[in-house]
Amino acid sequence: MNIRQNIEDIKNNLPENVKLVAVSKTRSNEDILGAYSFGCKIFGENKVKELVKKHEELPKDIEWHFIGHLQTNKVKYIAPFVHLIHSIDSLKLLKEINREGLKNKRVISCLLQFYIANEETKFGLSLEKARQILNSEEFVLMQNVKISGVMGMATFTEDTEKIISEFRILKAIFNTLKNEYFYSSEHFCEISMGMSNDFQVALNEGSTIVRIGSKIFET
Ligand SMILES: *Cc1c(COP(=O)(O)O)cnc(C)c1O
Repeated sequence: MNIRQNIEDIKNNLPENVKLVAVSKTRSNEDILGAYSFGCKIFGENKVKELVKKHEELPKDIEWHFIGHLQTNKVKYIAPFVHLIHSIDSLKLLKEINREGLKNKRVISCLLQFYIANEETKFGLSLEKARQILNSEEFVLMQNVKISGVMGMATFTEDTEKIISEFRILKAIFNTLKNEYFYSSEHFCEISMGMSNDFQVALNEGSTIVRIGSKIFET
């Protein structure tokens, strides 16, 4: 197995409208350039410092996604170039992204991250918390962020039924928010779910973005 074969295997299973984020955290520039040359143009990182360095060193047509827990004091480092932030878990974070978006004259696309697993290490909003954010006057006035959908991580388990039920929760949250807040917003269309071990399940449950690391880079 090599990176090229891994990417081909994954792409052969992806419906045309589903985006592949190659999760390149901890991987070398050499490996990333390999994946890039085999057709990956979207990469995901979960550490700000690492993302900034790779953005500087690697081809400029790469679309960089931030997929990890984001601290407000670090938003400024990625705001000039980040393409999609998958991990909004507070109004405070969104406010900072809006402020940095304004400074950089950009509208920054974001996903609301939901807590759907029962693992304490995972971050994310509840539906109630998301409604509080979306109802707030501060959010309504924001001009430099765009909410493009939702993201979630299922429990890391072999229990497929459990993974299915967690992804269904995320899909239901997406539908609820779509109806309540984004009915006429075409840009609210993304459901980021599915990693190396569960992306097939996620695709069956309506994922539009899969985030895959080890299955691409572990050869
Ligand atoms: C690391 C990571 C992934 C990719 O995980 P793999 O199991 O290596 O595919 C996806 N999403 C997030 C948020 C991650 O941190």
